[in-house]
Amino acid sequence: MEKRRLGKTNLMVSEIGFGGIPIQRISKEESRELIRFSIENGMNFIDTARGYTISEEYIGYAIEDIRDKVIIATKSMARDKISMEKDIEISLSNLKTNYIDIYQLHNIKDEETLKHVMSDEGALKALLDAKKQGKIGHIGITSHSLDLLEKAIEYDVFEIIMYPYNIVEDQATNLFEKAFKKDIGIIVMKPLAGGALDDATLALSYILNNKNISTVIPGMDSKNQVIENVEAASVEFDEEKQNKCKEIKKLYTESFCRRCGYCLPCPQGIDIPFSFILKGYYDRYNLKDWAIDRYKGMQKHASDCIKCGLCETKCPYSLKIRKMLEDVVETFGF
Ligand code: SF4
Ligand code: SF4
Repeated sequence: MEKRRLGKTNLMVSEIGFGGIPIQRISKEESRELIRFSIENGMNFIDTARGYTISEEYIGYAIEDIRDKVIIATKSMARDKISMEKDIEISLSNLKTNYIDIYQLHNIKDEETLKHVMSDEGALKALLDAKKQGKIGHIGITSHSLDLLEKAIEYDVFEIIMYPYNIVEDQATNLFEKAFKKDIGIIVMKPLAGGALDDATLALSYILNNKNISTVIPGMDSKNQVIENVEAASVEFDEEKQNKCKEIKKLYTESFCRRCGYCLPCPQGIDIPFSFILKGYYDRYNLKDWAIDRYKGMQKHASDCIKCGLCETKCPYSLKIRKMLEDVVETFGF
């Protein structure tokens, strides 16, 4: 598989990397076999997170004796310095390594949080210290908010950004152009639009056709998926594929949440896009328990919606949010 330069990190990463969420569904031994199989088939980039339960641990177990063959990225939801210091140590221990190539601030949602993580007592300080100490190599930031990443790339500290991009969610095209010009590495998540797209070959070839992108990280839990994804890297994105993508995009236009967050704040305090993300995990990723746990942990739920309609006036995609939240209630029961 071809490799692309991950911006100013100068790391050469496989165009398709191993997304570490779905190995939560398989055993430790199965994960080991799968990860090694993906490396044998040309992937040298693995992405995981502190938040993906056993994912770091399984990856550590899989790569312990072949650490030099892979570039590892992980991330933490820690927002303050002390919590981040702890998480870095846990990641190092789980991944059975003394060096993590990329450590990312996970899912920074708004400017207030960004300011907090960048303050003297914020999580970024711990990452900078760890970098000085040689425990991590590069610092990245992940988000579902386009506005937030537009602001984040103005700071010199972030060498990598991660954001969703796929056939139905291409709103980051300009952001990626700007980031590329600043020599920031671009990692694409959600290549199958949270499982909404079923043609992985088409979806991945669409993404790789954008040369600003360094790598895309579909989640995998079977060898067949690895083979399909590896093959997709060499598929040409021709006119027929372009037209097919246009048709798919049209089809999803009225019912797909792009997680932009413009509908927020909701007067009832409902995190609208996150509700839809969790429904997607429940319906499509077969991570039902995981989704239920996180949904239960939300402060407000879809059932708190009073149907004022304010969110729908702000959604740039004219989604029928009230109806979509009813579907969330139907899925989770509240
Ligand atoms: S319609 Fe429901 S979700 Fe939308 S703003 Fe009103 S209360 Fe919030
Ligand atoms: S419901 Fe609309 S405004 Fe809200 S996050 Fe989704 S796409 Fe954006």
